[in-house]
Amino acid sequence: MLLISCPNCGPRDETEFHYGGQAHVAYPESPNELSDREWAEYLFYRENTKGTFAERWVHSTGCRQWFNMLRDTVSYEIHSIYGMGQARPDLAPGAPTTGVPISGSTAPTSSEGV
Ligand SMILES: [Zn+2]
Repeated sequence: MLLISCPNCGPRDETEFHYGGQAHVAYPESPNELSDREWAEYLFYRENTKGTFAERWVHSTGCRQWFNMLRDTVSYEIHSIYGMGQARPDLAPGAPTTGVPISGSTAPTSSEGV
């Protein structure tokens, strides 16, 4: 179970959220000019990253706002939570993380998700 810190509501249980898939998938500039294969790749092809992955989430039982999250798909550690439309944060090796670890291991920080 994850403890996810909503940028608007603060730390909440994972059950209040819905996963929205890979973040930063841009809508094609000229969708009518795409081949069927290119359109299918836009619609259905997503990265299957083992490690840090940028995802979209929505706080469906709370503020109903979307946000992005950098999460490790192996350890489930949340590295960063940031707003829609913001660039993916760089995670330098050894850089401090601002995310919330797996629920129950430590208390959440109050400085994230601004
Ligand atoms: Zn919320």
